[in-house]
Amino acid sequence: MTYLKSAIAVALSSFLIACGSDQSATNEAVEAPSVPVAAVDTDRIKNAAAEPEMWLTYGGSYDETRHSQLGQINGDTVQNLGVDWVFEMDKPRGAEATPVVVDGVMYVTGSWSIVYAVDARTGEELWTYDPKVSGEDAAKGCCDVVNRGVAVHNGKVFVGVFDGRLEALDAATGDVLWSNVTVDQSKPYTITGAPRVFKDKVIVGNSGAELGVRGYVTAYNVETGDLEWRFYTVPNPNKEPDGAMSDAIFAELANDSWGDTGAWTTDGGGGTVWDSIVYDTVNDQVLIGVGNGSPWNASVRDPEGDFGGDYDNLFLSSILALDADTGAYRWHYQGTPRDQWDFTATAQMMLVDLPLGEDGAPRRVVMQAPKNGFFYVVDAADGELISATPFAQQNWTTGELDENGRPILVQEAIDLNGYAVMPGPTGAHNWHPMSYNPDTGFVYIPTNVALPYVYASNEASRNAKSIWNTGYDAGMAWAYEYPKGTIAYTQTLDGGSLVAWDPVAAEPAWIVPFPQAFNGGTLSTDGGLVFQGNKRGEFVAYDASTGERVWSQRLVGDAAAAPMTYELDGEQYVSVLSGWGNVSMMIYGAALEKPVTQEPGRIVTFKLGGDAELPSPLEYLVDETPKTALVGDPESWQLGMQRFAENCQFCHGAYAISSGVIPDLRWSDVSASEEIWASVVRDGILNDNGMVGFSDIINDDEIEAIRKYVIRQAWLAVENGNAQAPELAAAAGE
Ligand code: CA
Repeated sequence: MTYLKSAIAVALSSFLIACGSDQSATNEAVEAPSVPVAAVDTDRIKNAAAEPEMWLTYGGSYDETRHSQLGQINGDTVQNLGVDWVFEMDKPRGAEATPVVVDGVMYVTGSWSIVYAVDARTGEELWTYDPKVSGEDAAKGCCDVVNRGVAVHNGKVFVGVFDGRLEALDAATGDVLWSNVTVDQSKPYTITGAPRVFKDKVIVGNSGAELGVRGYVTAYNVETGDLEWRFYTVPNPNKEPDGAMSDAIFAELANDSWGDTGAWTTDGGGGTVWDSIVYDTVNDQVLIGVGNGSPWNASVRDPEGDFGGDYDNLFLSSILALDADTGAYRWHYQGTPRDQWDFTATAQMMLVDLPLGEDGAPRRVVMQAPKNGFFYVVDAADGELISATPFAQQNWTTGELDENGRPILVQEAIDLNGYAVMPGPTGAHNWHPMSYNPDTGFVYIPTNVALPYVYASNEASRNAKSIWNTGYDAGMAWAYEYPKGTIAYTQTLDGGSLVAWDPVAAEPAWIVPFPQAFNGGTLSTDGGLVFQGNKRGEFVAYDASTGERVWSQRLVGDAAAAPMTYELDGEQYVSVLSGWGNVSMMIYGAALEKPVTQEPGRIVTFKLGGDAELPSPLEYLVDETPKTALVGDPESWQLGMQRFAENCQFCHGAYAISSGVIPDLRWSDVSASEEIWASVVRDGILNDNGMVGFSDIINDDEIEAIRKYVIRQAWLAVENGNAQAPELAAAAGE
């Protein structure tokens, strides 16, 4: 019923706009309503609570609490929950998107920024749009060719494409209506986050601070694609105005928080807005979550500065509030001044009313649980800090703030002389969305147990030239050797939990520990349930009050993405994406119980009584046998390890142990041949697959040293009993 009502209302309202004040013709419009596709606008999203059978925007509503008022699936019925349909995407790799459902149609993205429109009732494909991201552009990403979703507005579907385009598609056909390049494509910018729409604007950020860029957000007109306003998150390196909305506050405040020299003046300084963007309907402002510094190492990035407070590097690692219409600065809160630990503040933000006003009156607050391990509650109107409490293990601060709301750092985390900082760059909580249940009052956070990291600041790292540009020694973070029992050791570093956080009491209500990190985003429902996928490939429902595990289903691939829910013809559905990929999976291949295969991304949709079958996982059929005799010596292995850690491990896995998503170099015929290896690594003959040539960054000797290191890793696996000894072993050993 809501569908028809809203369709007529929208048809009517657009007719009135089109016809101005000519009232005489309105009856005709009501008599013959065309059924518009994706008829969603700002008012409809504002009233999302009135139609919980939809999921109109990335976070479920403008407040992005990811709580649904649907309750048909609840503690009493969940045992009957089963798979109803499965949609197979065109390509494998990480699946991170939250689908949007409007009037029976699901709009969602898979890897490589491919957009799918699917019948939400059956999973039947309506259209697919492939923006054809090149392999070369794919190589610019820090963290796999992922995408977290679309925005839908007034017959259009908006997607941020990995190579920096923002595109408006016809929601009925998937045809491109307009396409804007939003970044300088000669630089390592990418887009993985979902755009958001408010009023007549669509806003998008970007990524790339690991490789060296300057962050910003841009708002475009939804109809024409014309640029409306832009706000940079860090100053222009020459501290001159950009002609952007950030100019005024840079002159007043931010320019003075940076020195005049250092890597930030050439590499952009970072501060990318790669995930959280929230439209605050009450204060008519946009909140953006700002990322880490580029390079990470503050003494390389801004060497004139120190941690005394005069060189905070605004607006790195901050929540920023901007006027929605003009993009003008409103307020900011910087959780990590002068970031040097990759502590982005890009994690999801949500807006709720909590009884934190005078005498327990409702107070509208922003909540965020970013990488640095603190749960923040901030007044949405003016940015006043209400509370900041560690929600996970952390050792970079004393756990307390000073009277100005600044974290009190421990000296070791400033000096970084071999100190294992917790959390490390994976963060205590990353992008995986959290949810908030207004009945329990809890926020459900998918946390990572603080994987420690040694940020090694030495002379070599200052001058290192690698695809990742952090200013730290990437090799120091890991054991230089592949020690006996590496897999077991790596697994001991891994871990996560589902934390039900009480934001009023500022303490956890319950915690469900989990053996692995980087588990999926959460969905909260009026059925008193919390849904979450995990790294083991299970999709689980927990009791929202107690954390008791009440139902689970094994998926094919993991479910890092957040689930969502909708209703059609009186039946509640729950959908979640599955796939193998994203950076944690690829770099921590060694932490998996066994390698995985390249499954396509999938949308898996459940309902009560659903009885569809999931496909069986593909078998991992790789011959884990070295393909050549051991080559090299300790010196070349050491050099190879160093260059591998700097350039290769982010996709091919720490210790050269692949998760299986990308070929394991240790068992590859490519690494067996010096010539083929050089043609791939130096000349880039697999460019189209995303494996670009590295001749600009590493020389021929280093390229060969990496090969020797990889082969040594294969032979160490044999020695440790993790691989087969080949026939040639005997010959080579003589
Ligand atoms: Ca980062």
